[in-house]
Formats: sequence, C-alpha cells, structure tokens
Amino acid sequence: MIYISGDIPEVHKVLIIGAGPTGLAAALHLERQNGLSSTVYEIRPEPTALGGAVMVPCNGLRLPGSIGLYERLSLKAAQSTKNVLYSSQGEELGKLVLGSWSAEKTGYWPMRVKRTDLQEALCTEAQTEEIPIHYGKRLVSNKDHDKKVTVMFSDGSVDTADLLLGLFRHLDHLFFVPVSVLPPKGGVTNLTGTLTPHKMFALMPCTASGDTLYWVFSYEVPMPASGSSSSRDGWAERSRIEEEGFKPTLLAILNDVPTKWGALLREVVGKTDVVKFYPIYRLRLGGKWSRGRCLLIGDAAHAMSPHVGQGVSMALEDVFLLSRVLELK
Ligand SMILES: Cc1cc2nc3c(=O)[nH]c(=O)nc-3n(C[C@H](O)[C@H](O)[C@H](O)COP(=O)(O)OP(=O)(O)OC[C@H]3O[C@@H](n4cnc5c(N)ncnc54)[C@H](O)[C@@H]3O)c2cc1C
Repeated sequence: MIYISGDIPEVHKVLIIGAGPTGLAAALHLERQNGLSSTVYEIRPEPTALGGAVMVPCNGLRLPGSIGLYERLSLKAAQSTKNVLYSSQGEELGKLVLGSWSAEKTGYWPMRVKRTDLQEALCTEAQTEEIPIHYGKRLVSNKDHDKKVTVMFSDGSVDTADLLLGLFRHLDHLFFVPVSVLPPKGGVTNLTGTLTPHKMFALMPCTASGDTLYWVFSYEVPMPASGSSSSRDGWAERSRIEEEGFKPTLLAILNDVPTKWGALLREVVGKTDVVKFYPIYRLRLGGKWSRGRCLLIGDAAHAMSPHVGQGVSMALEDVFLLSRVLELK
C-alpha cells in the first residue's frame, strides 16, 4: 500500500535499482502508462534469474495483461488448475480446483512459469521499449537535493532523476527452500503436495508443454556457525553442506511413503541433477518504505513467504498503484 502524504512530486525520469520482476515491470509500465523514462541498474553482471518457478495468480496476471505480457507468458507457463494432496502414506486425500472463484471473477487462471521465462519476457519487452538496463552496478548511496535524487555506484558513476525506486534489505534468517528443475517426466500434470512427518513436499509442472517438473521441500535449519544472519560466508558454507547432504536425507524421508506415488517421488528426487538452497529472509516489521524521493516496492518493501505464491503479484500491484498515484499529478 502506498500512502500519499503532501504533494505528489513532479516526475519525468525514474531510477530503478534492481532488474528483478519488480524493477523491469515498473520500468515498462511507467514508460507505457505514464510516459516516464526509466533507467534500471542491476548489481549482477548479466541478466540472470535464480532457478525454479513461480506461481502467478489472477491478481498478478491481470496486470501483465495490460503491459502486453500475458500472451507471452501463456505460451510458456503451465496452467493446470488442480491441486492434489497426498498423505504421508502416499494416498490421495483430495483434489481442489485452484483459483476457480477468482478465475470466474477476473478471467485469469493461476499460471506457473519458470523464473527464467518470466525474466526473459520482461527483458524482451524492456528491449522493445529501449529501456536502458545497466548490469554490474552496485548502489552504494543516494542523496536528495534540489527536488532531485542522485545515486552513486561502487564504480564511482552517478545518475540523477526525480524518483528512485530501490531495494534496501534488512535480513533475518527464516528457513531454506531447496528447488530443482527436472528432466522430462510424465505422469504429473497437477500441482501436488505430499505430507511428510517433516514438511510438505510439493511437485508440479511449470511449463506449457509439461516437459519440466519443479519441486520444493522447505524446512528450518540452524543459523550458520560462522558469521551473522546476513553473513554471505556463513550462508555460502551452510548451503554447500546442505546441498551435499540433502538428496540422501530427503530420499530417506520419502522412503517412508509407500505406494506407487512414493516410488515416483523418490525417482524424481533421485533423477534431479542440481539441488539449490535458497535462504529466505524475513523483513523486520516497522521498516520505512519511503524517504524523500526514494520509494521501496516489491520484495524490498514486503517480501513474503514463497509458499503463498504472491511475491510477483504483489510487486506488480505496487507498480500499478504507483503509476496511478503519479497520474494524479
Ligand atoms: C524459492 C522461492 C519461491 C518463490 N515462489 C514464488 C511464487 O510461487 N509466486 C510468487 O509470486 N513469488 C514467489 N517467490 C517470490 C518472488 O520470487 C519475489 O517476490 C520476486 O522475485 C520479487 O521481485 P523483486 O524484483 O521485488 O525482487 P528480486 O527478484 O529480489 O530482484 C531484486 C534485484 O535487485 C538486485 N539488487 C539487489 N541489491 C542491489 C544493489 N545494491 N544495487 C543494484 N541491484 C541490486 C538483485 O540482484 C535482483 O536482481 C518465490 C521466492 C523464492 C525464493
């Protein structure tokens, strides 16, 4: 939510820190809807998206629709709508049609799309609009002056604009989610969840052709022994240890799931080449979302658990609301 207090500033140029889904969608929408020119700065050296897939429900999908992304994503995304829940004994507990109520209201069914496909679609649209995206740029500071904001990067370069949309993270440890993209595998056409004595194992298709499955198993781990909760070294070492020992641990957990379904899950895990760990951080409550001409949107303002499948949608909602607020000027 954006609270408007005082005058809405006159904005012609916007600086966006971060070429994630929020940054690229903001650049595109502010250009098309508000006629504002944006420049995007990304810390990573090249366009990348961490592995895995995201589910985008109807509140997020109606927004890409209006920036021309919906059609592009439909060609790539999995659109199966059934959610099947299995017990720890590998027996089907029930089926639920996901998003039927909201689809009836909005016309959009939830989509699951590979992160790389989402990022590629946004980058392609940004290129079409000739939006400049500079990679390898680490923001180090920003300063308001004379109704402008100037940002400074670690390589000594600077840029100035009327509004800064940025990311400033306050990190706390919550838990890890291992994610993997599998080789082609038949038989799983729905979003499935299997209860285990530890946590839920979720398995689902994430492409339009169904040639790729995606699975997630999340659990809490102790804090890294070395460094603080935000220490990269501490987490890097911890991730290495978790990634090495993870497959045997998970296979042992799934060994307790009898039936054909349990055998399929073990096969899926066994055939997964690469398993990744993502530390999920919780933002401290009470943080400030704006200061002067700088505004936080997307995960930087309100990161939420990946399990609710709302991060991308909420980020897109921010972009559209900001655009409407700026239109009021
Ligand atoms: C395992 C997992 C599963 C998820 N599943 C879902 C799901 O099913 N559905 C869903 O909607 N969401 C899901 N999410 C959440 C979703 O990924 C995020 O909400 C979304 O990526 C937020 O986009 P963003 O652009 O705000 O932030 P990010 O994607 O984090 O992008 C921020 C960008 O800023 C860059 N950056 C950071 N600091 C600087 C700096 N100082 N200078 C320059 N650049 C910088 C980063 O490199 C990054 O590219 C999931 C997340 C995880 C980890």
